[in-house]
Amino acid sequence: MNCREFESYIPAFIDKKLDFKTMEEFREHYESCNECREELSIQFLVSVGIRHLDNDDDDFDLDAELKKRMASNEKQIERHRIYRQSQRYIITFGCFLLGLLLIWHLG
Ligand SMILES: [Zn+2]
Repeated sequence: MNCREFESYIPAFIDKKLDFKTMEEFREHYESCNECREELSIQFLVSVGIRHLDNDDDDFDLDAELKKRMASNEKQIERHRIYRQSQRYIITFGCFLLGLLLIWHLG
């Protein structure tokens, strides 16, 4: 993901609408690019901050909120990765069983 793509995904990130694959790339870029980290902080501040202003939420810590958001995304990505991996194992195992069955049947 490049900086322009990252920027275009910021609104979706704030609205929690990124899919896992995009989120993974988004996070990777976030970790590696200072400018985009700043850009995200600003946009996050503006859109989430304003929403919280409406709620009269005085002790709202935006930086912590952003970190929390990133951490929860990380967990989701991790969970998704494990899920995908176990799916792969199940398929591999299924093929293995099918092979055994076939050998057993033919032999
Ligand atoms: Zn960037």
